[in-house]
Amino acid sequence: MADAVTMDKIVSLCKRRGFVFPSSEIYGGLGSSYDYGHYGVLLKDNIKQRWMSSMVQERDDIVALDSSIILHPEVWKASGHVGGFSDPLVDCKFCKKRYRADHLEDAQCGQRPSKRPGETSDCDLTEARQFNLMFETSVGAMEETGVPVYLRPETAQGIFINFKNVAGIARRKPPFGIAQVGKSFRNEITPGNFIFRTLEFEQMEMEFFVPPAEADEWYRYWVDERYAWHRRYGIRESHLRIRPHDDDELSHYSSGTSDLEYLFPIGWSELEGIANRGDFDLSAHTAASGTKLEWVEQDGSRYTPHVIEPALGVNRSMLAFLVDAYDEEIVAERERTVLRLHPQLAPVKAAVLPLIGKSDDMSGRARKLYEELRQVISVEYDDGGQIGRRYRRHDEIGTPYALTIDDQTLEDDTITIRERDSLAQERISIARTREHVLDRLAEPWSSPKVDAA
Ligand code: ATP
Repeated sequence: MADAVTMDKIVSLCKRRGFVFPSSEIYGGLGSSYDYGHYGVLLKDNIKQRWMSSMVQERDDIVALDSSIILHPEVWKASGHVGGFSDPLVDCKFCKKRYRADHLEDAQCGQRPSKRPGETSDCDLTEARQFNLMFETSVGAMEETGVPVYLRPETAQGIFINFKNVAGIARRKPPFGIAQVGKSFRNEITPGNFIFRTLEFEQMEMEFFVPPAEADEWYRYWVDERYAWHRRYGIRESHLRIRPHDDDELSHYSSGTSDLEYLFPIGWSELEGIANRGDFDLSAHTAASGTKLEWVEQDGSRYTPHVIEPALGVNRSMLAFLVDAYDEEIVAERERTVLRLHPQLAPVKAAVLPLIGKSDDMSGRARKLYEELRQVISVEYDDGGQIGRRYRRHDEIGTPYALTIDDQTLEDDTITIRERDSLAQERISIARTREHVLDRLAEPWSSPKVDAA
């Protein structure tokens, strides 16, 4: 049943439980834009934290950066984005819809959704024209005198232009990396497929600067590392693959790129890209700015480092985790929907549930436990309605542990801990609950879902 996960099911769960809402909904919505509710924010934050931790905290060769969204417009000329960051688009003069010329196979005709653009006799497609994906705005009080600038379409350029600043104070020599998480913007025309492709999105990018002779080796290293990261946080092996780009797909600057692809409900699609960018970026900014972005050895010799870049979208990663986690099963003749998220990613780690909400004794004990746990983890107190309904709500948002305070708690100071995936219940002492939950959260985890494509 697990693999009948459709995008509709994910969209509906996200709306129902407050992970993701269509943006500007009361005004009819804005295409390819979404707002993130409470659990969506918590889930996204956990993904970003796990990524940052694996890049910065768990290593000693990568430092963090947070650069501006709006950069000097020359940055985007030097990087090639003004001239080349575009998609080929065709317009249909009949239905007035616009399509990506290289995605016509997957598009639907504006008049007959059962057909592709160009397939009906009414279709009247123009020649393909290049359409730049960068959003433009202007800095300055008046429109006429304002300086035109762009909203960044990737975070990477903010890293390259800070190479000298960071290398100077980071006390690290290549190989070393700079990691950044932040918003990027692209005027995407193709339909979004929920949060897979949106106008604004967050990226987690890391630029790893290496001596040129080591670039191939580090490129292979980062492909393997990034594959392992997704597996570590629960993505099933059968749903993740590495796809090296063919020579004709490679960007002009790249000598090697691999996509990590996930089996989304729309089919195998890019989740993350890992590229060997050579010295393209540092050389381009050196030439355009006049500032030498290079590494100087102690003996005075100098070189321009090559760059390996793993780039992952937070929102796309969140979609992959949601799809991978979504499960339905029949338990005691009732259907249960459950998000089998890695416990470290789950928005709420534990729910504290007094069996009878109206019992002062039970709710008093439960409140005390809740106050203790919230100091260290994200936890919810819930005393409303039948216990079964409360369990189901927490299954749907992926809470790994439900802690129930009942009659027996009042007698022997034990509670029930119910495990989301196995539904196993165990009694543990209330005094040891915090330690118990923290220990379990730190354990390695793999998805209990069937690992078959
Ligand atoms: P695609 O081919 O899907 O458009 P891309 O190759 O242009 O992606 P990159 O420029 O390599 O993407 O960006 C790195 C990562 O940022 C992607 O792997 C993806 O996870 C994410 N990403 C890129 N564009 C979007 C978008 N419009 N919405 C959400 N995430 C995005």
